[in-house]
Amino acid sequence: MKHPKEEITYVMVKPDGVRKGLIGEVIKRFEQHDLKIVALEMFQPSHDQLNDHYPKDEAWITRLGEKTKSTYEKYGYDMLADFGTTDTSKIGPEIRKWLVEYMKSAPLVKIIVQGVHAVDIVRKLAGDTLPYRATVGTIRGDFSIDSPALANKEKRAVMNIIHCSETPEEAEHEIKHWFGKSPIYNYKRFGVDE
Ligand code: ATP
Ligand code: MG
Repeated sequence: MKHPKEEITYVMVKPDGVRKGLIGEVIKRFEQHDLKIVALEMFQPSHDQLNDHYPKDEAWITRLGEKTKSTYEKYGYDMLADFGTTDTSKIGPEIRKWLVEYMKSAPLVKIIVQGVHAVDIVRKLAGDTLPYRATVGTIRGDFSIDSPALANKEKRAVMNIIHCSETPEEAEHEIKHWFGKSPIYNYKRFGVDE
């Protein structure tokens, strides 16, 4: 069993976060909550790297389509007019494509964050996936008001400042994918580790 302080999660500052000048703000919020930055780098990912980052299984892709369908139903928008179909298994791949395009549009910052409940704490600090719904005080709630209602009309992904892993298993997979063999650093934080 690993010590609870050894839990790590994967974060990426997305193109809108980089272009809004929020790299420091994002890192500050993690550090303020006793989480430790143990790896950090700016980079420009390739199309293939991004394509491999997002899951390719049908369940995940259809879930993306279903989320969009429920937005269209909520706002009374015409899905058939915008997508040419109401089939969530056909809309999902379209949104996945928008996501990869959006993620390619500026350099990203990849970060490994360590600490007790790192995965859950980072998601709590990030806030709801959809910024218009995210609580004020969270990263997404404070710095974005984007929503699928607007994004899907503009045929693009929802811009929500950062990506962060949903589970420790997803974190492990994403860290392997983005950091490969590059080192994860080890040091003692004042007030946290001693
Ligand atoms: P991330 O995985 O980026 O941390 P998340 O786990 O909160 O975000 P997911 O459900 O994994 O959200 O969706 C991945 C990304 O797809 C979101 O971060 C967002 O940019 C985009 N997205 C989600 N729902 C929609 C939608 N209905 N329309 C357009 N883009 C969407
Ligand atoms: Mg996710």
